[in-house]
Amino acid sequence: MDGESDSDVEELVPKNNSTSVVWNYFGFYTTDTDQTNVICKICKKENVKATDGNTSGLRDHLKRKHQKEYAEFGLLMKRLANGGKT
Ligand SMILES: [Zn+2]
Repeated sequence: MDGESDSDVEELVPKNNSTSVVWNYFGFYTTDTDQTNVICKICKKENVKATDGNTSGLRDHLKRKHQKEYAEFGLLMKRLANGGKT
């Protein structure tokens, strides 16, 4: 029981130098060292539109395609805003 059975998903890594919780839902292939190809972890869509250093395109993808996750994301953001950060 080592929990390594999630083999239907290629391992994705979060964006470098970003702590935004939106990256809970998106990532990059480990081979994409330039981190140009954003992958949605939920629907596995590649090249999700994200303007450079801006997560609004990712939020928009969640909002339009994954409303359940978007709601969770909204709650996370609210929790962070209410004292998760100093
Ligand atoms: Zn998606």
